[in-house]
Amino acid sequence: MIEREFFEWLLFLLFMISPIIAIILFCMPAPYGRHFRQGWEPVLNFKIGWVIMESAAIISFAIAFFYGERSSQLVPLIFFMLWQIHYVDRTFFYPLRQPAVKKKMTISILISGVLFNLTNGFLNGSYLSTFGPAYSLAWIWDIRFIVGVILFASGFLINRYSDALLLRLRKPGETDYKIPKGMLFDYISCPNYFGEVVQWFGWAIATWSLPGLAFALFTVCNLVPRAYWHHRWYRSHFSSYPQNRKVIIPFIF
Ligand code: NDP
Repeated sequence: MIEREFFEWLLFLLFMISPIIAIILFCMPAPYGRHFRQGWEPVLNFKIGWVIMESAAIISFAIAFFYGERSSQLVPLIFFMLWQIHYVDRTFFYPLRQPAVKKKMTISILISGVLFNLTNGFLNGSYLSTFGPAYSLAWIWDIRFIVGVILFASGFLINRYSDALLLRLRKPGETDYKIPKGMLFDYISCPNYFGEVVQWFGWAIATWSLPGLAFALFTVCNLVPRAYWHHRWYRSHFSSYPQNRKVIIPFIF
């Protein structure tokens, strides 16, 4: 039996570390994509790094989940399915949709991504089948489950559609950046990040769990600073960048 103290300690750590990460990332963008900076550290192929990094969330969640005694119950299994749909697509299909250009990933991004995904997968998987309260079948008709799943699905669709629009901007072989247009891009610079945030708040509400909330807050702390840097980057690189476009929350920020 995994110790509850270990679970609680990791959960506490995730809540504590998120605002610190937000401060660091507001001072200095994470070095990948357009903010890539090669310093002294080794780099590896981006797609290989991505698959290693994201598969940690699939594996740790699955092990922690099936280790628990409630893993054969319907409601936890629905959550298992939602998690794995997201992460299997993110891990294996997202890199396949990327153009065949040679991008790099730094070792520090790889290691921090793997550590986060292992922790987060363990916390959410073990909560659902071991440490959280049991979900009765009636949970499926609970307003928190219904609203949470709707938000999760909406965030998922916004995120995937926005990523698809971004990936369509380049013709084969191109590596430069264009001004994205259409759908939520007419209001904010980073609708893919907005969708991701909505999705994980949906998860937090549907599971009504502290690990879900910790993940949603971490996503905000990770992606809002990155959206801020993307927005600044667009404004400094394109004089015709739409002035009324916000960073990540339509009409507000
Ligand atoms: P970006 O928006 O930075 O880039 C997504 C893809 O689109 C990249 O291939 C990028 O190329 C390309 N692209 C972006 N903008 C343009 C443009 N203006 N013109 C042409 N091509 C463009 O997303 P991330 O790489 O940061 O994230 C990828 C996915 O992972 C997103 O869905 C995000 O939500 C998710 N994610 C989730 C996290 C979480 O905490 N839950 C953390 C990090 C990511 P290039 O790489 O060359 O810039």
